[in-house]
Order: sequence, then structure tokens, then C-alpha cells
Amino acid sequence: MSNSQGTLLIVEDEEAIGEGLKFNFEAEGFVVHWARDGAEGIRAITTLYRELDCVLLDLMLPEVDGFEVLRRTREIAEQIPILVLSAKGLETDKVRALELGADDYVTKPFSLLELLLRVRGLTKRRRWYRDEEHGDEIRIGRGRMNPRTLLVSMPDGSTSRASPTELQLAMVFLENPNKVLTRAELLERVWNYDSKMETRTVDVFVGKLRRFMELNPSRPDFLISVRGVGYAYVTDPALKEQLLAPR
Ligand code: CA
Repeated sequence: MSNSQGTLLIVEDEEAIGEGLKFNFEAEGFVVHWARDGAEGIRAITTLYRELDCVLLDLMLPEVDGFEVLRRTREIAEQIPILVLSAKGLETDKVRALELGADDYVTKPFSLLELLLRVRGLTKRRRWYRDEEHGDEIRIGRGRMNPRTLLVSMPDGSTSRASPTELQLAMVFLENPNKVLTRAELLERVWNYDSKMETRTVDVFVGKLRRFMELNPSRPDFLISVRGVGYAYVTDPALKEQLLAPR
């Protein structure tokens, strides 16, 4: 691999935004591919997925929209980080994109610096994941996760596969057991947010992690919601009672 910062695919139909992103990310040392509609995006992902470190995906695309690109991308390649560029203020679209497998989103108009930070975080994770060193299976709640293959042994005995972002979030919890982590802390450590933004991202991803580690994700034993604060990965039952007690 060369000295490049990583290889990106931009799927964006708006000429000015596509041009601007390509120019700026190339200036930062990335190799940039640009698909101008959804069908071209799917073709590019199909041929390039092995070398892509991150996909920047617009949701509102002619003909094949971003949701369909997202769905198809996750069929082809589960592990490519995808950052959605959403022109819509609708929270439901963002949550839907996260549920369909996006790792993060920014709402247009976005700050280039903010976007660059997020992309750096996502590409770093992609490379970390490719590193052969990370081989040992880790236990999380009632599940087990292999950090290299991202295979998850689910609490019910079935298997599933995590995304690199899900793994990263799991690691942050595992490194801080029995400690309440705020949404802002989690956003900063996993998604490289440098500002306090309102977002449902953490909540959606906690929901995904619970499926990997809880017998009953709607009544979690390990990944506990601490109302108004954030979440805690709890291995000490006494602490769980304390956190859940009304105050
Ligand atoms: Ca568009």
C-alpha cells in the first residue's frame, strides 16, 4: 500500500459537492473515486470494495437512491465503513440509514473539517481491522466477537457479523467496564465527533450491540441505559441495581 491516507468512494450526484469533496480529500492525501449516481455507485463498490477504506454516500440520488445503495453495499461488503451525507433533516431517514448499515452520517451543509475528522476515524478503523494482529476472540456480555473476522457468536448460539464500528464501540465499553459513558464521550471516541451534536447514532448502535450480547435485548443485563446520561457496560450486578434504581 502507498502513502495515501486511504481510498474513498464518493457517491454524489450534485456536481459542485462532488467536485468539492474530491478536491479536498485528494488535497489531504486520499485516493478518491467518484460515482455520480446510485447505479454507478453500486458498480464501483462491486469492483472496488477490496481497496475502499470508506464510502461517502448521498441519500438523495436519481433512479437508485442512497438507501438502495446502502442495502446493496452491505450485501457485497459488510465491512466497508459508510458515511451518509444527508440533505434531509428528517431523523427517521438518518436512523433508517444507520439501521441499514451506515456507520455515521453528516447533514448538509456540513463542515469539511468535521467530515475529514469523521472519515479519518472510519478509515483508521478499517485499517485496524485489516491488521492481522487482532486475532483473539473477545467475550462481550453473553456473546463472543472475533475482532479480525468480525464474526459474532450470539447468545442464542447462532452466528452473525459485526461491522468495524460496532466492534469499535464494543471495545470502548469493554475497556471501561462498570463505568457510565456519556453519549458525547462515545461519539468522540468512536465517531471522532469534535462537537456536541444531537444525534441518534449512539442509541442505534447500542441497540445493535445488545443483539450481540444480551439474551433479551429489550431487557439488557449488560449494556444498561442510564437515563439522561448515557450507557454503561456492567459486569457487576450490584452496580446494575444501583444504576437502574429510581433517584
Ligand atoms: Ca443528491
